Amino acid sequence: MRAIVYDGHLHYVGAYPDPKATSGWARIRVLKAGICTTDIEIIRGYKGFKGVLGHEFVGVVDCHCPKGGDPDWTGKRVVGEINVGCGVCEYCAHGLQRHCPQRKALGILDLDGCMADYCVLPVSNLHLIPASMPDNIAVFVEPLSAALEILEQVELTGFERAVVLGDGRLGILCAWTLLTALSDVTLIGHHREKLEKARWRGVKTQLEFPAGMEGNVDIVVEAAGSTRGLGDAVALCRPRGTVVLKSTVASEISVDLSPVVVNELTLVGSRCGRFETGLRMLESYPDMPIERLISAEYPIEEASAAFEMAVQPDTLKVLIDIAEKG
Ligand SMILES: [Zn+2]
Ligand SMILES: [Zn+2]
Repeated sequence: MRAIVYDGHLHYVGAYPDPKATSGWARIRVLKAGICTTDIEIIRGYKGFKGVLGHEFVGVVDCHCPKGGDPDWTGKRVVGEINVGCGVCEYCAHGLQRHCPQRKALGILDLDGCMADYCVLPVSNLHLIPASMPDNIAVFVEPLSAALEILEQVELTGFERAVVLGDGRLGILCAWTLLTALSDVTLIGHHREKLEKARWRGVKTQLEFPAGMEGNVDIVVEAAGSTRGLGDAVALCRPRGTVVLKSTVASEISVDLSPVVVNELTLVGSRCGRFETGLRMLESYPDMPIERLISAEYPIEEASAAFEMAVQPDTLKVLIDIAEKG
């Protein structure tokens, strides 16, 4: 099969071995995949992963090895949760496969990813996509669910003032999900064009730190992925407020954490979310301008060009088109 592989270098491979579905797993024919910051960190060597890249996808189940009374998923259009737990530990028993210490993760940890004609996942990881939802929207279920995790972790009354730092794809998705629960949301970034694309439902956008906001914000989401982000977030947060850390900055950072103690801030680390919530949100807010986040689409063969585009400062989301033509 065709695949985008990282083995110390990024390449397109025309004849990578097809994966096989084992009991309880499905093989999925991938239609579209998205390039995410995690993929970029992998090709920079930060994660130690080697194999087929990619964890954001939409595809069609091509074959499935049922276990017990599993319904037949063959032919269904799906997205898939990326973490595969051991199934027996305490985290897995509570539906928290994404925290299983033995977990594998699609295209990130010990499991080939989705930038290929086929990928495999347990059937229990799959979610059906409504027929009315285009592939180019469905491929955003994974990053949107990650943004939505904030609403699961932080209790909101609806009257909080929130600031999101970072006008990349994740920052914009975080701002949009917060706007479904709050009216006062400000997105702070450095790129005029990206902030323009973030306009939805009265989101306020700022190129610079607005005067008078320091120490006044109830919830600050750090999605800038820059080494300055955490320090800025702590400075903006009001006493007893909450700072949510969304970006996994690869380099080690040094931050003065004394304001966290003095102002009794709550720091919340936030990673992957539940796909049910992401799908539900896409259905409940059909006006959310998701497709505006697509900067470019490349055929799988043009892997290098696609990744070059994905690291440009003005790029939001780059998609890989994998559907067989003709
Ligand atoms: Zn991702
Ligand atoms: Zn487990």
